[in-house]
Amino acid sequence: MTTPLTCRNYIDGQWLSAASGATLESRNPANKHEVVATFPRSASVDVDTAVAAARQAYRSWRLVPAPARAEYIFKVGELLSKYKEELAQLMSREMGKPLTEARGDVQEGIDCAFYSAAEGRRLFGQTTPSEMPNKFAMTVRMPIGVCALITPWNFPIAIPCWKAMPALVCGNTIILKPAEDTPACATKLVEIFAEAGLPPGVINLVHGVGEEVGKALVAHAGVDLVSFTGSSETGAEVGATCGRTHKRVCLEMGGKNAQIVMEDADLELALDGAVWGAFGTTGQRCTATSRLILHRDIKEKFTAMFKERTSKLRLGVGTDPNTDVGPIINERQLQRVSKYLDIAREEGAIVLMGGEIASEGELQHGYFFQPTILDRVIPQMRVAQEEIFGPVVALIEVSSFDEAISVLNDTNYGLSSSIYTRDINRAFVAMRDLEAGITYINGPTIGAEVHLPFGGVKHTGNGHREAGTTALDIFTEWKTVYVDFSGSLQRAQIDNRE
Ligand code: NAP
Repeated sequence: MTTPLTCRNYIDGQWLSAASGATLESRNPANKHEVVATFPRSASVDVDTAVAAARQAYRSWRLVPAPARAEYIFKVGELLSKYKEELAQLMSREMGKPLTEARGDVQEGIDCAFYSAAEGRRLFGQTTPSEMPNKFAMTVRMPIGVCALITPWNFPIAIPCWKAMPALVCGNTIILKPAEDTPACATKLVEIFAEAGLPPGVINLVHGVGEEVGKALVAHAGVDLVSFTGSSETGAEVGATCGRTHKRVCLEMGGKNAQIVMEDADLELALDGAVWGAFGTTGQRCTATSRLILHRDIKEKFTAMFKERTSKLRLGVGTDPNTDVGPIINERQLQRVSKYLDIAREEGAIVLMGGEIASEGELQHGYFFQPTILDRVIPQMRVAQEEIFGPVVALIEVSSFDEAISVLNDTNYGLSSSIYTRDINRAFVAMRDLEAGITYINGPTIGAEVHLPFGGVKHTGNGHREAGTTALDIFTEWKTVYVDFSGSLQRAQIDNRE
């Protein structure tokens, strides 16, 4: 076992303990006896200090030309590439995902850095003719101010990058509050931003418990915007506080994503997609496939194929190159997944495979759950409606294309969706009618790219989209500018009309 890292808050360019001196520990989910890091249990007094630093830094950072701000982010991208393997190894130990996926998580941060940095030379506004003579009209993007970024543990590098990078290029200053389960990843990331030379106060990091430090940040009068990714329950609370305190808020929340397999699909291709979508990252992705909607003509055959392939998945420690499926993040989440299996059985679903906590051999030291397939699930069951966030997939049989669409749409969530079909007409109907922020045709529900908008409808989001150019709409406000060079008063809608 390696010596635990000592993580600190980063405020105004200084690495600090919590004012109270209190600390917490993060542990390896594949081996609960291994402490990965200790980190500050911050309180509202630490939040006050971070907000004051971010407010002060904002006064000058907003005036740095955007292409110059972007150069820091470009440098962060280069440093992330340099430290990619180190970060991936740390992530695999702290969060549990297999190394190949951890490398992908860091790569998403790198891609986001270069994409966001390029926006520093764009940040386009509009020019448009005025209805008056000798008058000029345009729009420009303005930064918003101090942004609180509250992030989950499942993409401990990619998600903070998605938020921090566009926010900084747009001229905001930031305070990152990472998940309690992944403080070491967040600390390494902020070290990289510091190494890139960002001025003090432009990026700040405050560790701690969501109910304490997260809540304090969201309610703080000195915070102008909250960008939150996490569960729909917490998101609703964050949104309510932001409403009461007049903050801008971007919420990226839960999912109950489904893959449809029609009778005309390429079944081998659909199988690859289903296995990766359901069990990649141990089902702990907001875009994970948690429902497989199968046309009755292929249901039996596809189920047998899916079962066979799932039986070959190797559960294990993420740092072992032979592992396909890593641990669940913590004991609470393991018990939650287990509880959903009880609910499934009570509701009449059949556990076709898995369904139990895995504790043989070295797995006994961690939080492992067997890859699980539930059969004979009907759309009204709780396991077909509620986000489980683990390696559990529900099979639902349908008799027609219309029924498949309607079953997929029948949840409160709307993040990702997928359909496997060779029928071009059905593919286009699905693109139009699936109620989700993302639709894949002949691809799994997971696999977002950083230059395309990312987010969901219904209880998954509040209308914003991260990534792509749409991220700029979260982190800027439009200003409309009129320049009258006529030298006289011109009254719109009056002087130029009878
Ligand atoms: P979570 O419990 O909602 O926590 C998310 C973040 O919010 C953590 O940093 C947490 O801190 C903090 N927090 C908790 N209570 C808070 C409060 N009252 N006020 C302010 N902040 C608070 O979610 P999670 O379990 O970490 O992540 C899993 C969820 O995230 C799933 O629902 C998943 O679908 C969703 N997710 C969505 C997306 C997307 O883009 N739509 C992407 C990834 C994940 P602590 O860690 O200290 O509790």
